[in-house]
Amino acid sequence: MNRRDFITTATTASCALALGGCNESNHQAIDFSKHPTKNSNNNKHVNINKNKKTIIKLATSWPAHFPIMGTGVEKFAQRVKDVSGGSLEVKLYPKNTLVPALAVFDACSSGQIDAFHSGPYYWKGKNSAFSLYSGIPFGFTAEEINSWMLFGGGMELWREQYAKYNLHPFMGGNTNIQMGGWFRKPIESLKDMQGLKMRIPGLGGEVFAKMGVNPILLPAGEIYTSLERGVIDATEWVGPALDIKMGFYKVAPYYYSGWHEPGSILELTFNKHSWEKLGFEQQSILEVCSSEMNSNMTYEFHAENIKALKKLRELDVKIHQYPKDVTNAGKKALVEVIDELSSKNSDFKRVYESIDNHLKLSREWSDVSTRYFLNER
Ligand code: CA
Repeated sequence: MNRRDFITTATTASCALALGGCNESNHQAIDFSKHPTKNSNNNKHVNINKNKKTIIKLATSWPAHFPIMGTGVEKFAQRVKDVSGGSLEVKLYPKNTLVPALAVFDACSSGQIDAFHSGPYYWKGKNSAFSLYSGIPFGFTAEEINSWMLFGGGMELWREQYAKYNLHPFMGGNTNIQMGGWFRKPIESLKDMQGLKMRIPGLGGEVFAKMGVNPILLPAGEIYTSLERGVIDATEWVGPALDIKMGFYKVAPYYYSGWHEPGSILELTFNKHSWEKLGFEQQSILEVCSSEMNSNMTYEFHAENIKALKKLRELDVKIHQYPKDVTNAGKKALVEVIDELSSKNSDFKRVYESIDNHLKLSREWSDVSTRYFLNER
């Protein structure tokens, strides 16, 4: 495909260059002659070329307007347009409108699209190390994985490994600690997990498999009926905000707190050539807006989870915790999964060692600060 097919340079309408020259509705033109302090910056040119509009084709793995993840990307696209003065446009293609939900990685790698919004653990079939960028069972919270990514070497490893697929990633949101899931029957000991059919993806699924669970992957649209009919016995999803919309509480009333996805990040990833073709200002705009999306989505999950938890309690949903033998078996299984994947894949080993180093330090600080505080609050 010709690259111009997806990064489209088009001449915009007559409103260009003159600041305020295309003043519509509530947009106030700024007269710099009346702002001497601003005027002192006149030698710093605004180089965004409003004659030209760059379009970035971005596909997501979520349906249009999907709460928090889908709407968060829509807000990102709007912010890019606003901050760039309309010279940069992110054209969104929700799940399956241009490429299938789980084909966005390949479509972006090949250059069919410029960017995608999805989750790194979906691509563990390409390289098992990629699952680690989403986080690991008993691993980082959202705050901790952000600190590893930005200041602990995580982003450098991620970019180095994605570059082999012609991709350039950014963080694009975080679900923070996910719930353990919905069970048709209570879990009273590790025995109750044996042979349990559960929808659970990623490293969490591999850990549960070692504990005797039969992990099953199902498309989102089939989970409720499978649970209702007893085709599966349990499912994890995300957290109260999204779980309540799926109605799982009606068919699997035992809701458990979780440790299998403590701080799953979402990704905003660009085709590397598309990215490098952009000007420095355009790259900066996308970087700043992606950083805003990353934090806003995290906080929106928190804000919506607390409201949804209240609603679930009003619906008389009880929140449970796994028995200690289940959690201990999970910790043991995680060590085995990490050892096996590390011995098979040097990329996995390297990324895990970086995570482990950061997590060891982080645990100590989180214990003396957050854990103490939350216990006392
Ligand atoms: Ca999940």
